[in-house]
Amino acid sequence: MTMTSEHSASSTGQEAREIDAVVVGAGFAGLHMLYKLRELGFSVQVYEAGGGLGGTWYWNRYPGARVDVKSMYYNYSFDPELEQEWEWTEKYPPQPELLRYINHVADRFDLRKDVRLRTRVTAAVYDESAARWRISTDQGEVVSARFAIMATGCLSVAKMVEVPGIEAFRGRSFHTGNWPEGDVDFTGRRVAVIGTGASGVQVIPLVAEVAETLTVFQRTANYVLPAHNHTIDPEFQRAIKSRYRDVRKANRESSFGIAQPEATKGALEVSEEERNAFYRRVWEDKDSELVSMLVGFTDILADEAANETAAQFVRDRIAEIVTDPAVARILQPSGYPFGVKRPCLGTNYYETFNRPNVRLVDLRATPLTEVTESGLATTEENFEFDDIIYATGYDAMTGALDAIDIRGRGGVSLREKWAGRPVTYLGLAVAGFPNLFTITGPGSPAVLSNMLVSIEQHVDWVADAMDRMRSEGVTTMEAEADAEQEWTRHVDEVGDMTLYPKADSWYVGSNVPGKPRVMYAYIGGVGAYREKCDQVAADDYDGFTLTR
Ligand code: NAP
Repeated sequence: MTMTSEHSASSTGQEAREIDAVVVGAGFAGLHMLYKLRELGFSVQVYEAGGGLGGTWYWNRYPGARVDVKSMYYNYSFDPELEQEWEWTEKYPPQPELLRYINHVADRFDLRKDVRLRTRVTAAVYDESAARWRISTDQGEVVSARFAIMATGCLSVAKMVEVPGIEAFRGRSFHTGNWPEGDVDFTGRRVAVIGTGASGVQVIPLVAEVAETLTVFQRTANYVLPAHNHTIDPEFQRAIKSRYRDVRKANRESSFGIAQPEATKGALEVSEEERNAFYRRVWEDKDSELVSMLVGFTDILADEAANETAAQFVRDRIAEIVTDPAVARILQPSGYPFGVKRPCLGTNYYETFNRPNVRLVDLRATPLTEVTESGLATTEENFEFDDIIYATGYDAMTGALDAIDIRGRGGVSLREKWAGRPVTYLGLAVAGFPNLFTITGPGSPAVLSNMLVSIEQHVDWVADAMDRMRSEGVTTMEAEADAEQEWTRHVDEVGDMTLYPKADSWYVGSNVPGKPRVMYAYIGGVGAYREKCDQVAADDYDGFTLTR
């Protein structure tokens, strides 16, 4: 920690309502931040662009949307009564249930009154003389806040295809991450889905069941494991609830925010029979998790030969399920390791390609060239559709922050500062941007974990810091440039020890043309990362400059 003592006076020019903190976003992160800060007696205004609460779970209403983390682990832990009283119905809760849960929490803790919906924050400008953030919205509102907390989500800015003609299409167009409210019926229609990531994998089987035809446009085949979703066993729910504190602790100390038995051996240290028996158990076990296969051996994420054994196991299953060998070959992922481009959980995913009304188009062989008035064109063929579903992903981790004109000391914009690559201290703070915090920001474990575990950790850390600042008379807290550089180097170093950089994926920014190719999340483990953050706080915020 460095202490300085610059005095500040308010000089915002135009009158603006003064509050302690603005929180941008009313998803899981923003609502928890609001709850914590209000408990501590801070005045807070939350702004949310959506027409309702829920962030990701407000926008992602597409058929089949559900989370890939077990319901019992994907919920708030901050209130012992809340976690006991809420009853989950499925292993992996569907979007409507998650949205009901979020709205229940908002009502239970009376959170709505501090949330302004349908209001997008457009700018956050730091006034150095006042040591305050001036926040503007698209509704013409301006507030002055001591703290600006970005709970803007890691996957909230939709990415479209890069070919021309999107506007020309005369049918209905949807993006999975920006789905309209109300029922969308695909019965008897000719539907296209572009994209086979986690969203595409969920939407494809359900649309196929009702559409006249479904044409899936795949660029990169994914590794899709069976979800084995099922109604939740009441005994399991009771058992978890009876030892929730231990469960939470184990999740917080784990690698991915979901506690798993510790692997002790590498995949190549055991016989082929033993290895495949393990993969088979995970594949068939109705209680397995998305990460089970990733952490079953010590080296799956670090050694290419070890990784290939898991990759081949999945390819072999695809060949067993898909009846047309040519289609199976297109669906079999190759050329990048298993698990380091987000693997998916599917329900009847590969089986769907056996349906007579489903066709798979391999965009590697015949790239997309245009969206036309009546459908899509590839280098080989023109297709006619009634509906196009873009399951084409997001400008992840930085997109939502870049969308706001954030200006720190000296009017420097965050966008410009991050033009070469994002740099943060712990994924929480940025040098030159005092009192601005990024919940699950780039450089933190964020998307490489159970998001609820990571969100709660950041929210608690930020709330504690603000509380301590207030009691110790500290006005601003700012990441130091050296600490930021050092942390960013560490994020890269740890990333380079794994196979993550070997795949094109949104984890490394390569899905967005021109975006810097770096590790956007920290793969050092949720538990180790938490210890680091706690140590920084215990060392009087080592790496931050505190100003009185
Ligand atoms: P994504 O993983 O980025 O997948 C996007 C898909 O669209 C990819 O198959 C991609 O192909 C394709 N695509 C993108 N641009 C294209 C273009 N110009 N032409 C052709 N194809 C194109 O996005 P997502 O499926 O929305 O998932 C994003 C993340 O959200 C997930 O990884 C996950 O973390 C989260 N999510 C979670 C759940 C869940 O928990 N169940 C569900 C949905 C989403 P390439 O691979 O070749 O780029």
